[in-house]
Amino acid sequence: MSYFYYLWDDFISLLFPRLCYACGNHLMRNENLICTECYVVIPRTNYHLEENNPVAQLFWGRCVIEKAAAFSYFNKGSRIRNLIHHLKYKGIKEIGFELGKIYGLSLTSSGFTKDIDVIIPVPLHPSKVRVRGFNQSEIISSGIAGASSLPLDINTLKRITKSATQTKRSRFERWTNVEGIFRVTDPQAIMGKHVLLVDDVITTGSTIESCSNELLKIEGVRVSVVALAFANI
Ligand SMILES: [Zn+2]
Repeated sequence: MSYFYYLWDDFISLLFPRLCYACGNHLMRNENLICTECYVVIPRTNYHLEENNPVAQLFWGRCVIEKAAAFSYFNKGSRIRNLIHHLKYKGIKEIGFELGKIYGLSLTSSGFTKDIDVIIPVPLHPSKVRVRGFNQSEIISSGIAGASSLPLDINTLKRITKSATQTKRSRFERWTNVEGIFRVTDPQAIMGKHVLLVDDVITTGSTIESCSNELLKIEGVRVSVVALAFANI
């Protein structure tokens, strides 16, 4: 790149500063979306390396999940929370793809994905997709699919009932709120397959439980789960 290009680039950066979506600091020229410091300091759970981890334990006695993991922790004010906020509510889709890619590389290199056949994102109701413009779990899944070379299936599992926001509900209310709201549209497509369900944040696990219960009705299906963050409430 020429000297004048850099000069022009610096001028544009002064007018329109590029900020890290995780910490708000200025991005360097070679950084994109997330600064290098955030890449390094965002805490990893490394649950994909630990079979009986807290996310896996969340589903004990509720539904049969083969393997479960989360990339980071969803704490108040945490950098991953800022990133997911920008993804979901500010429409910065690239964040979901980037984090999915980073996590997908870890999952693949550790062997977590080696017996997975297909990636399925937790679906949103079509009316919510219309409002938001996209399904964040689908974006994260496409990053994981890109890193792992696994196929992505966004057609077989559908959300058939709209439910109110989960945020202020108790664990029991959340469970009853998501019971029976998903449907498998084409059982043949996933028969005998090991599905990797992908969500943005796992809190009570009730959404995953509801999805899994639908998927596990299909002969030979096994379900594993990953999310970008685990909110241990
Ligand atoms: Zn940062």
